[in-house]
Amino acid sequence: MIIPGSEVRTLRCSRSGCLREPTWDVQWRNPKIHAPERVKVWLACDEHRDYFEAYLGQKGFPVSSIAREGSVE
Ligand SMILES: [Zn+2]
Repeated sequence: MIIPGSEVRTLRCSRSGCLREPTWDVQWRNPKIHAPERVKVWLACDEHRDYFEAYLGQKGFPVSSIAREGSVE
């Protein structure tokens, strides 16, 4: 969801109140409401990756985290 011309440079961890730069894409979906190809992504810093995975995992949602290597494009 890059908006042309907006220069989105300051990505932040999706955890509310966290100002750290995200280093992980936490990809997940809700099988009950999302089609198989529909994947949601939360951005997570090192500290909150576990938090998101645990949170989603306990809901029974499939979740996988992808490292954001040199994230800015
Ligand atoms: Zn964080």
